[in-house]
Amino acid sequence: MTMNTLDRHPRYAWAGPPRRREPATALRLMAVLAHPDDESLACGGTLARYAAEGVDVHVVMATRGQAGRHGPGEHPGTEAVGRLRESEFRAAARELDVRGVHVLGYHDGRLDQADPVEAAGRIARILRRVRPHVVLTFGADGLYGHPDHIAVSQLTSAALAEAGAPEGTNAAHIVSKLYHIAWDAETWEIYQDTFKRLVSRVDGVERCATPWPAWAITTRVDARAWWRRVWRAVGHHRTQMAVYGPLGHLPPERHERLWGHQTYYRVFSRVNGGRAVETDLFEGLRAVTAAERPAKMAS
Ligand SMILES: [Zn+2]
Repeated sequence: MTMNTLDRHPRYAWAGPPRRREPATALRLMAVLAHPDDESLACGGTLARYAAEGVDVHVVMATRGQAGRHGPGEHPGTEAVGRLRESEFRAAARELDVRGVHVLGYHDGRLDQADPVEAAGRIARILRRVRPHVVLTFGADGLYGHPDHIAVSQLTSAALAEAGAPEGTNAAHIVSKLYHIAWDAETWEIYQDTFKRLVSRVDGVERCATPWPAWAITTRVDARAWWRRVWRAVGHHRTQMAVYGPLGHLPPERHERLWGHQTYYRVFSRVNGGRAVETDLFEGLRAVTAAERPAKMAS
């Protein structure tokens, strides 16, 4: 039993050894993402691991992925692609044991055209309702410069500020920690070696993956035990199988590396600090250590 130095956090005040396990919903994590498949490819291992540990995991998905691939055959129209991809996302989220799914429905590829006040307001409303301790989203780099990823990062920041004030009868909510997805050179090398070099042209300028310096990574989450679950979640994105299908031939070690090592930049924390690399997004928030927390068997 380890007493947390931050037990002054009012919701987790230390009250002696617990008589029973903490309720499964004691800690809450919310990922705010842009496209169906981001939840699996960008942070699936993290979501699966925390869900298995009993954390209440939520995903806010800003678009329905209408601009993505539609699978074999004739193009069924963007609305139909959006419906299909939303259902694939919901299936992947179930696979990852995500309890709360919130689809905002903005248009894929045009998230930065959405009314920022309205969009941030909607995310803020979800924040006030779900009251997550930890939020994660993309960083300023949009992982590889994707404008939707950058937009969702900005909207999330605005929403976090807005949720700090009450709205009507909904109490204010201040998130304890915010993380950005931050991939270093090693991760990008493996990812692009597996898929392809991610490059796009935006406003006539080439954008590609810009690895974070390894020293800037604040948090490394070990999700190796959950790689099979993430791979199954990826498999629910059937419309995208032209891209993901060939990954089925990869050796298990490659899958484990792809989905099992997740790195983040801690943008802010109201519960801890310092340069020691974290191994847990909830560091500073736990009343008991991860080892004592019941975890479902990984599969
Ligand atoms: Zn995306």
